[in-house]
Amino acid sequence: MQQITHDVLILGTGLAGLRAAVEICIKTRDSTDIGIVSKVQVMRSHSVCAEGGTGAVMRPEEGDSFELHAWDTVKGSDFLADQDVVDRFVRTSPDEIRLLEHWGCPWSRRDDGRIMQRAFGGHSFPRACMAADKTGFFEMQALYDTLVKYSNFKRYDECFATSLLLEGGRFAGLTLFDAPTGEFYVLRGKALLVASGGLGNLYGFTTYSQTVTGDGQAMAYRAGLPLEDPEFLQFHPTGLVSSGILITEGCRGEGGYLRNNKGERFMEKYAPKMMELAPRDIVSRSEMTEILEGRGFSGPDGLDYLQLDLTHLGAERINKRLPLIREVCMKFLGIDPITTPIPIRPVAHYSMGGIEADINGRTKVENIWAAGEVACHSMHGANRLGCNSTAECLVWGGITGGEIAKYLGQAPKLSAMPEDKAQEEEKRIFDGLLKQNGTENPAQIRRELRTLMDKYAGIYRTGQSMKEGLDQIAELRERFRKIVIQDKSRIYNSNLIQALETENMLELAEVLLFAGLAREESRGAHARTDFPQRDDDKFLVHSMVYSTGGKPRLEYKPVTITTWKPVERKY
Ligand SMILES: Cc1cc2nc3c(=O)[nH]c(=O)nc-3n(C[C@H](O)[C@H](O)[C@H](O)COP(=O)(O)OP(=O)(O)OC[C@H]3O[C@@H](n4cnc5c(N)ncnc54)[C@H](O)[C@@H]3O)c2cc1C
Repeated sequence: MQQITHDVLILGTGLAGLRAAVEICIKTRDSTDIGIVSKVQVMRSHSVCAEGGTGAVMRPEEGDSFELHAWDTVKGSDFLADQDVVDRFVRTSPDEIRLLEHWGCPWSRRDDGRIMQRAFGGHSFPRACMAADKTGFFEMQALYDTLVKYSNFKRYDECFATSLLLEGGRFAGLTLFDAPTGEFYVLRGKALLVASGGLGNLYGFTTYSQTVTGDGQAMAYRAGLPLEDPEFLQFHPTGLVSSGILITEGCRGEGGYLRNNKGERFMEKYAPKMMELAPRDIVSRSEMTEILEGRGFSGPDGLDYLQLDLTHLGAERINKRLPLIREVCMKFLGIDPITTPIPIRPVAHYSMGGIEADINGRTKVENIWAAGEVACHSMHGANRLGCNSTAECLVWGGITGGEIAKYLGQAPKLSAMPEDKAQEEEKRIFDGLLKQNGTENPAQIRRELRTLMDKYAGIYRTGQSMKEGLDQIAELRERFRKIVIQDKSRIYNSNLIQALETENMLELAEVLLFAGLAREESRGAHARTDFPQRDDDKFLVHSMVYSTGGKPRLEYKPVTITTWKPVERKY
């Protein structure tokens, strides 16, 4: 099998992967040979969809502070965030905003010329730095433009990574299906950064692109790395009905209201101080309560909804600050938010958990780092605040890039290559999955999985619903063994890639429910009606799920508390 060797590999070209690549180029003066892998083309990475903004303290003289940003984040996390990690984050993110400014990101501006920041949920100061409502797109452009000033990297676009190969407990290689050529080969490197994004497609009603299927988490898990806090899956309060397209929190940041079918701004009951700008877990639960108690509007396919009302904001503000949202509403629903409220409901949006990584982004394997949504640095705890994710991608993209550059400077050796494992993987995929002629359709299994996650692992869960979900996942996994992939060719075989993604999703769905079932409390995004209270005595801990003989095994690890003891959350 062909092997290609670079100094370092970066799996993923979203905000985290690109930021890390730039940092390695800068720190090693373009002397490091980097292999950059993406299953889509670089600028189709999901990060281009980020809309509302990137959080940072930019105006201490106007009343913001690192302490305030940290407190908002820790309280928003329902006290599960590691406070040393949050502290590092808030102190670093302003530098990332300024770096992007130097690299050409066209931030929106205030009248005095300074970077515009808008209000976001759970933040007690407007700190979402914005480029209209296309922030991720412009940030990605700025990073890619900066990367191409360097030359020592090779892109592997539309190449699907299938497994992480370890040898003697160290990273040795990445197996890759090159979709345009149909070839299968191994990329080798002295270090690997996993920056492969989230897993939103586990759910049917989601804001995420079709490609966000948690491959990196699943590969790491199979390779023996623990997944941390996987049960905490964020539901964003404003998914467009019925597509699930994100209607940015920036709409509420600009002053939008949420209303029920009585025309009431119902958040008054649930979060009288912060109203629509309470953290997402609280707003999403409140919406669901309104719907369940009959105060929603009846929607298509059981997707009952509430209204996001922007009509009082005026055409000028909407056109200037929310142009994408207006375009989406007009194109997908034929309504104009300048005159008509938008139908919305909670939607699966973000994974707080991921591959366990320490404060420097290093995983339990010495030469593997993780950054961005795939990682869990314990920064968001049980509930992420809006605009803290793109910022986290930039901060830990920069940190891990720097750490990897340092590591390479110590001249580590390339690990030995486990040829047998690479060949096994090739056989598994091309002699097994692709050749077998079963009776089950993998696309149908994926559909059923996403429907069951909506049903059994939604905003409100119970032990019973999660057990039912786990049973059904076990059946789907059994059926997956009997799939047939209709397209037997190798070039651009998207059927094969989707089947591999589905296999990953089945594994991660099991992990999520397994950890959720064991956590007998309600905290942040994990809301159990059979255990409605937070239980700090038993569960002020991070879940760590390992794969043991193909089955999940759970351990817990303490939360780092440096400053704030848990208190009741009121907004
Ligand atoms: C619609 C939407 C809007 C959002 N808006 C905001 C916002 O305004 N502010 C905010 O802070 N957060 C926002 N978020 C969250 C934020 O956008 C994401 O968390 C963040 O962009 C993730 O970036 P990433 O670099 O970790 O991964 P991604 O951008 O998802 O990139 C993942 C990369 O990994 C590659 N990859 C994955 N699997 C494989 C594989 N098997 N083989 C090869 N390559 C692979 C992909 O091709 C891609 O290049 C939003 C999320 C959504 C869904």
